[in-house]
Amino acid sequence: MLKNLILVGDGMADFPLPELDGRTPLEVGKTPSMDQMARSGITGLFCPIPEGLPPGSDIGNLSLFGYNPRTTFSGRAPLEAARQGILLSPDEVAFRCNLVTLQDGTMVDFTSGHIANEEAHQLIQSLNQSLPALPAKFHPGVSYRHLAIVSARGASVEELVGLKCTPPHDITGQAYAPHLPAGPGADVIHEIMQHSQAVLQNHQINLARRQSGKPPATSVWLWGQGRSPSMENYSQRFGLAGAVISAVDLVKGIGVCAGLEVVNVPGATGYLDTDYAGKTAAALEALERLDFVYLHVEAPDEVSHEGRIDLKIQAIEDFDAKVVGPCLEHVRTHGNCRMLVAPDHITAIHTKTHATGAVPFVVCGAGIEPNGATAYSERAAQQTGLHLAEGYQLVQKLLQAAHDERLTAKMLAQ
Ligand SMILES: [Zn+2]
Repeated sequence: MLKNLILVGDGMADFPLPELDGRTPLEVGKTPSMDQMARSGITGLFCPIPEGLPPGSDIGNLSLFGYNPRTTFSGRAPLEAARQGILLSPDEVAFRCNLVTLQDGTMVDFTSGHIANEEAHQLIQSLNQSLPALPAKFHPGVSYRHLAIVSARGASVEELVGLKCTPPHDITGQAYAPHLPAGPGADVIHEIMQHSQAVLQNHQINLARRQSGKPPATSVWLWGQGRSPSMENYSQRFGLAGAVISAVDLVKGIGVCAGLEVVNVPGATGYLDTDYAGKTAAALEALERLDFVYLHVEAPDEVSHEGRIDLKIQAIEDFDAKVVGPCLEHVRTHGNCRMLVAPDHITAIHTKTHATGAVPFVVCGAGIEPNGATAYSERAAQQTGLHLAEGYQLVQKLLQAAHDERLTAKMLAQ
């Protein structure tokens, strides 16, 4: 059986930019390794974000793991919970839980001044100790980002999952009341939030924060909820054992749900200063003993959110030189591997946010017949005429073909 390596440059696809004479960052960046992959492999377009679903990394990465987001996606929080080893029972719903600063009816700060872990954990502990009457348990995370597991008492699982909840970072500086969780069963969540406000108001941590001029954490804010995702794991689905490497909890969480091993690399930061060499070495080491490795690099997405064309080109060139290059060398010398390079969605420089749409992929390696591209970019991929509308089928077909000696563009298109 052939081994498969998937390399994800988060958000590296983009639209043609006037600042780059109508070219995209992928076209302008010097990417000799990805271009080499295109010459020896299959290049095409695929849609990681199904029509009508939000263009988030959760959905895009689910597609790139070969899962249909329409049937598996159940909210962001359950994937992050999986990463923390929290398994949801059928009557539990996971919510993202921010510690926020509310004042005079306004969402003043969705991060409580980027509250330190130690302070946040003490607040979360106090909330848990004071909550026995309420159907929620809090799990501490990093800084202001935590999880609340809510059991279906007072509201059904369906009602909790169906609540309309607003990410707090979308309403900074606005009146928060119109954005409180809404829908049948919302009272339970309102009660949890009100209770947190009573506990937090005069908490010693907050008294100290006020005294030193820092924003107090005045409330929890629940959003991003979902039930346990129903994902068949990789060994059942593809007969594969594999690993995931990423700086991002969400991606690791998908790996956990897929039954993959999470390989932690100490220097993985999710930014330009990430330890590319460490991540690449860990991926190639894992590929020696496993059938499948998923290596995710966050930097192109982060710098796109900053709207920085120069840094986006740098992130793409770093990804090509420090990740794709060494992996391609491994594939060449080992002969029993295939590797795929793709983004999980577009992150558009101009809007500084994610977008739905087709993005380019390239796959090369054992038994792959090239389909004529000479470079890896949005335009080059479009020119091959290969286009997979159901994006998740790309990786599904690639992994199902692990036993096939040959792989052609036609096989991927069928
Ligand atoms: Zn992403």
